[in-house]
Amino acid sequence: MTHLVARMRPYERTIFGEMSALATRLGAVNLGQGFPDTGGPDEVRRAAERAIAEGHGDQYPPAHGNPVLRAAVSEHQRRFYGIDVDPDVGVVVTTGATEAIAATILALVEPGQQVMVLDPYFDLYAATIALAGAERVAVPLTAHTLRPDLGAMRAALTPRTRMLVVNSPHNPTGVVFTRGEVEALAAFAFEHDLLVLADEAYEHLWFDDNVHVPLAGLPGMFERTVTVGSGGKSFSFTGWKVGWASGPPDLIGPVRVVRQHLSYVSGGPFQEAMAVGLHLPDTYFDGFRADLAAKRDRLCAGLTELGFRVIPPQGTYFATTDVRPLGFTDGDEFCRRVPHEAGVVAIPLSALSDHPEVSAPYARWAFCKRDAVLDEALRRLRGWLG
Ligand SMILES: *Cc1c(COP(=O)(O)O)cnc(C)c1O
Repeated sequence: MTHLVARMRPYERTIFGEMSALATRLGAVNLGQGFPDTGGPDEVRRAAERAIAEGHGDQYPPAHGNPVLRAAVSEHQRRFYGIDVDPDVGVVVTTGATEAIAATILALVEPGQQVMVLDPYFDLYAATIALAGAERVAVPLTAHTLRPDLGAMRAALTPRTRMLVVNSPHNPTGVVFTRGEVEALAAFAFEHDLLVLADEAYEHLWFDDNVHVPLAGLPGMFERTVTVGSGGKSFSFTGWKVGWASGPPDLIGPVRVVRQHLSYVSGGPFQEAMAVGLHLPDTYFDGFRADLAAKRDRLCAGLTELGFRVIPPQGTYFATTDVRPLGFTDGDEFCRRVPHEAGVVAIPLSALSDHPEVSAPYARWAFCKRDAVLDEALRRLRGWLG
């Protein structure tokens, strides 16, 4: 890789690619990477099939997204959160939430400025911040409970800090920030005049009464926030790669400029189908959450019984466990042994972290899998630990 530009060398491999390759090689049950192993709602799939059959979207869709999808994003923000976004100038359709995040950082952060992320963090942020020539400031969540630590954030702030990335429901921990925590994060951003990237890819994946509170809905926050959504996560079609960003025109405008020079446009027929998804009735979203919550309960009950300390997942696809009660000192060592010895793959949180003093003891397990797959993983772990 001698030709790879220096600033991207630390990002040559991803832990997900590495662990999935290991799972394939060993025939291990892969609870590493977070994607569902069943498809999404039939209405949405049929809308994509219809769009292809009828030849809609065969050619480049409009540069900033199919107007039908932009209108659907705008209506969705109003329906669920009471947030008004202008579908003409306040929404941009992207190649997954991934591209929305990349375009936002590239468009709004100058080289040498700092982006604050809460650690552990989704690995894409680090790579994109590096690509932008910016600097990552990773502030650890609290050690035992994995909650935002405003004191640590305040201490890490510098005059060069330009943007705060807030991801709730939070990958990898499965934590959903409370209204109080979101208010504190908003006050922090407001007080220090930071732009905010609100990665809300898991906005519809919260459980029990851990309701998702969008940052842009708080007073004074819409004006400084780019909110990112993912059709892949909200409708279980991660392979379709449709996402979006919404916010005020003076932030979405720059994001549009950068994004049009990345993929230009993406997936015409899938954009049409995602608009159908966003208009689905509440029964879909309620049922989706209930299904995932049942999977969470299934996996977490098993992991608890095996002796892990499980951080109760309040949202997302993921359960985070402390491996120390089982006699391991380190989640990384645990995750490197368990595929070989038990035939199951999990992800060490330390791979998504600059702060081993907080992240080292944890391993992350994806529960967005068929019951038979979860049961087989637990059976193997029971045999290994047993
Ligand atoms: C999966 C994920 C994304 C990317 O979503 P895509 O729509 O698949 O590109 C962004 N942020 C977080 C936190 C994710 O887990």
